[in-house]
Amino acid sequence: MTELYQKLEKIVSEKYISDDLIVRHAYSRNVDPVLQGIPDIIIRPKDAKEISEILKIANEENVPVIPRGGGDCEFGGSKPIGNGGIVLDMKRMNNIVNLDEDNLIITVEAGISWAKLNEFLCHFDLYTGCMGPGSGMTASIGGGISHHSVGGGGCAKYGACTNQLISLEVVLPTGEIIETGSQANKYSKFPFNRFGNGPDLAGLFCGDNGIFGIKTKVSLQVFPRPPFADYKTFMITRKTVEVSSQIFKEIRKKGIDVYDAFYIPDIIVSTGTELGMFPLWENIKRKRGVFFYTIEANSEKELKSMVNQLDQIILQHKVQELGPEISEGNYAKWHYTEQGHWQTYHNLWGLLPAFEPMTAECFITIDLYPQILKDIDNWNRENSANLQKITEIAGFPPVSGTGPILLIDGNNVELTCGFNSFNSYRDGKNYEIIHEINIRLWKSLLERVTKWGVQWYMMGEVVSRLMVDIGAYNPEFYELMKNIKKTLDPKMILSRGKFNFWNDK
Ligand SMILES: Cc1cc2nc3c(=O)[nH]c(=O)nc-3n(C[C@H](O)[C@H](O)[C@H](O)COP(=O)(O)OP(=O)(O)OC[C@H]3O[C@@H](n4cnc5c(N)ncnc54)[C@H](O)[C@@H]3O)c2cc1C
Repeated sequence: MTELYQKLEKIVSEKYISDDLIVRHAYSRNVDPVLQGIPDIIIRPKDAKEISEILKIANEENVPVIPRGGGDCEFGGSKPIGNGGIVLDMKRMNNIVNLDEDNLIITVEAGISWAKLNEFLCHFDLYTGCMGPGSGMTASIGGGISHHSVGGGGCAKYGACTNQLISLEVVLPTGEIIETGSQANKYSKFPFNRFGNGPDLAGLFCGDNGIFGIKTKVSLQVFPRPPFADYKTFMITRKTVEVSSQIFKEIRKKGIDVYDAFYIPDIIVSTGTELGMFPLWENIKRKRGVFFYTIEANSEKELKSMVNQLDQIILQHKVQELGPEISEGNYAKWHYTEQGHWQTYHNLWGLLPAFEPMTAECFITIDLYPQILKDIDNWNRENSANLQKITEIAGFPPVSGTGPILLIDGNNVELTCGFNSFNSYRDGKNYEIIHEINIRLWKSLLERVTKWGVQWYMMGEVVSRLMVDIGAYNPEFYELMKNIKKTLDPKMILSRGKFNFWNDK
């Protein structure tokens, strides 16, 4: 047992620290299957004070610390880059701190999951608006704020979860504990507003991918769930990508406040149904791309009027409206009433055994995604020789393309595209060539998509470094970010190596 381990053990007690090989390996990966980094120590603190002490020791010993929530990052964000360091698991900090029902603000510890938080809120007829990411059954609020997550329901109406942020308690990399927004005034008794008392310091930590500080408490706005809702699902019969983009655009132009609007592409609908993921579409003969929406209202009259406007937009295209019940194909109803928003993506990730999805999830404007998807088809053709090598070993061809596309803040969508390949372990053998091709092609696809000017939000190891390596950052922006990092974290303790911020002194 190292001296470092003994010092840390004194802070959290022996129950909440481990350097066991199995535990270290369990924390060596995120959801992405190809990036690995084995930490030396895993620690599970109970509060900001313990985290502050841990960070002070890490600074003394010059050891990197990687915060981890649910570990659902798809780009290697919550595990070390290379081996070594301390993974700081936030999931023990999962308590509701306070519900301010008068002011509609909830304060929670950052390790709580979106599902646990919303389960608590539903007893008060409240919800978080944006329900966090599609991984919300396991993903934490702290991870969501660190990524600007969006997608787990309500994202067309409420946008990314950071839009709901009121205030943060953050432990800075050198151990100081700060509070943002209204809490900058020491006389303020409770968090109530994000902006004011100086610049928006909470914004510094939103989407920082865990490099500027450890979020320990989060105060979010909450909303009364409207009493009326409707949900409709359509099969688009031709040119489904282009038609979905037109429908999204028209919804925004008419200013209709949809709660969710999704497009599920042809290949996902047909393959997913074949593999048993969408039993509700089994009886539909020609399976094409699906478009669905959910809308909420405070009265029946308001609901009817909005549904009429939406139907006018959608039915002018060649679409087939599916029946109102889930059993008749109404995916939108399942998505809204049965928390399908937290289940869809989990199913997709496990669609085939030994599947290795290497995604490129990003934000982009509605008008650009059809062109990006065409370019991914081109990329696929250009890389056919490499893809063929994997096919020969795996027996199946890797597939590139898109997952569901969803309307988010403004005129933007969240585009889930990428490349699905296979694991390098087959029939008891490790085919290193598959791993090597997977990583090379993943980076090549990410570079291609970056050059469309997309906005990455969840960046982890691979995207944060790729942006620097291919020179995609505006140099002034990158320099400012680096200077802020150096000021807050002179030894680059927190998430060392992300954005190529190394301790190279
Ligand atoms: C099935 C599936 C569906 C998904 N769907 C979506 C989706 O719809 N939308 C979407 O945006 N993403 C989605 N994701 C990606 C990911 O789950 C989310 O971005 C999620 O918000 C990550 O939360 P987490 O708690 O798992 O974070 P982690 O992966 O543990 O961490 C994410 C990043 O935040 C840092 N971090 C974590 N907690 C803290 C903290 N308290 N303080 C400081 N830094 C911290 C980590 O170091 C890391 O850089 C999905 C993933 C999966 C597997």
